[in-house]
Amino acid sequence: MDIIFEQARLPGGWARNVRFTVEAGCIAAITPDADPAGCTRAAGAAIPAITNLHSHAFQRAMAGLAEQSRAGVDDFWAWRGAMYGFLRKLTPDDVEAIAAMLYVELLEQGYGGIVEFHYLHNDPDGRPYADPAEMAHAIRRAAATSGIGLTLAPVLYTSSGFGGKPALDGQKRFLMDPDAFLRLLDDTGAEALAFHSLRAVTPEQMARVLEQVSPDIPIHIHVSEQTGEVDECIAATGRRPVEWLLDQGLLTPRWTLVHATHMTDAEAEGAARAGATVALCPSTEGNLGDGFFNAPAFLGAGGSFGIGSDSHVSTSPVEELRWFEYGRRLQARKRTLGAGGGEHVGAWLWLAAAAAATRPTGRSAGLLAVGAAADFVVLDTDHPALTGRDGDLILDSLVFSGQGSVREVWAGGERRVQNGRHIAREAVARAYRKTIERLKA
Ligand SMILES: [Zn+2]
Repeated sequence: MDIIFEQARLPGGWARNVRFTVEAGCIAAITPDADPAGCTRAAGAAIPAITNLHSHAFQRAMAGLAEQSRAGVDDFWAWRGAMYGFLRKLTPDDVEAIAAMLYVELLEQGYGGIVEFHYLHNDPDGRPYADPAEMAHAIRRAAATSGIGLTLAPVLYTSSGFGGKPALDGQKRFLMDPDAFLRLLDDTGAEALAFHSLRAVTPEQMARVLEQVSPDIPIHIHVSEQTGEVDECIAATGRRPVEWLLDQGLLTPRWTLVHATHMTDAEAEGAARAGATVALCPSTEGNLGDGFFNAPAFLGAGGSFGIGSDSHVSTSPVEELRWFEYGRRLQARKRTLGAGGGEHVGAWLWLAAAAAATRPTGRSAGLLAVGAAADFVVLDTDHPALTGRDGDLILDSLVFSGQGSVREVWAGGERRVQNGRHIAREAVARAYRKTIERLKA
C-alpha cells in the first residue's frame, strides 16, 4: 500500500508530498516529491507516533478515584493501598474492556505503540487461572481491537520487600514463581519481560530468569521511584538501586529503567553510558508526588529517554513531554534548555521520545525511516495552534500548545484514528461503560 502525506518529518528534516510504501506494517520505501496518483493521500503533517513505554492498563479505570484529600499521610504507599482495593474485583473481561478503551484513547492522542507492564496474573483469590496466561490474552485482545502496537512485558513479582519478604494480601494477584513466569513468557509469545522492582524480585530469581531467556529480549524494571525504596535498597544491599544494577554489571541497552527518579549524578551517568533507556512517566510521577528525574546528569551523558503514562492519569504524550520539560525549567529557573545547542525544544522532545522505542520494544519504531513500523501521527495544520507554522515550529507548537491537533493516527500501516476519533471508539466505549457500572455495583 502507498500513502502520500502533504508533508512529513523524516529523520533528516521535513519533506513535501512524501510517499510511504507500507509492507507488512512497516515502511518499505520513502519517496519525497512523489506523484499522488494511485495513492491514499492525507492532508496535514506526518510525524512519527510515539510508543508509550510504560502502562498498567487496568489503572486507567481508577484514575481520579484517589484524589480526595485525606487526613494523615497520603503518599505513594497510601495510593498503592487504594489501587490494591480497586483491582480486587477485576475479571479478565473487565481488564480487556478497560485496556481496549485506554488503547483507543492513547491512539487518539498520538501514541502508536504500548509496552504493557503486565503484572495482574492471578484470580481474585490469588490462584492462577486455568490458563495462567488468561489475563495476558485479555491484554492481547484489547490491543488487537484497538490496533495499537503491543509489546507485552509480563512481570515477575514474588515478594513485598528486599530479602524475599513475604507478599502482602493485596499483592496475591501478582505473584508467580520464576519457573511459572518463564512458562508464561513462552505461552504468551512475550516481546519483553519485566522484573517488577528490586524490592519484589530477589537477585537469585533475576539470575534464574536471565539465564533462561533469549539474550536479546528487552527487560523493564521499576526503579528508584520513591526515596523509601532507595533507603530500603541501601539497607539491604549497601547500594542504591541503579548503583546496584550497575555494580552487578546488569545494565545494557536492552534494559529500560522505569521512573529512575532518584538517581545520583554517578548513577545517571552510569545508566546513560550503559545504554539503558529511561521510561519517564511525568504525569504519574507528579500525581504520586514521587520527585523529579535527574535530567541534567542523564541527558548530559547522552542518555536515551522515552515516555510512559503508567497509571494513566493522562493519556496524552504532549502532556507527558510538557510536564518533563517544565519540570526541568522549574528546577533550572531557565527556558529552552534543549539537549544542548539551538534545537527546537518541542521537536527534540517529540522526536527523541519517539525514537527511543526501538530498544525497549525490540522492534524498529518511532522514526519515519525504511524498516520502521508504519506508525504515523498526522497533524491538522489548520488547527489554531499550528496554522502558519513551518518545519520544526510545527512540533514546537504541538508540544507546547497544540493539544487537540491530532487528525489521524496510523499504527502498523492501518489508519485507526480519523478526524481525531478512533474508528472503533463507540463499540469500545459501550463495553467500557458496562464494565465500570459492574465495578461500581
Ligand atoms: Zn508502573
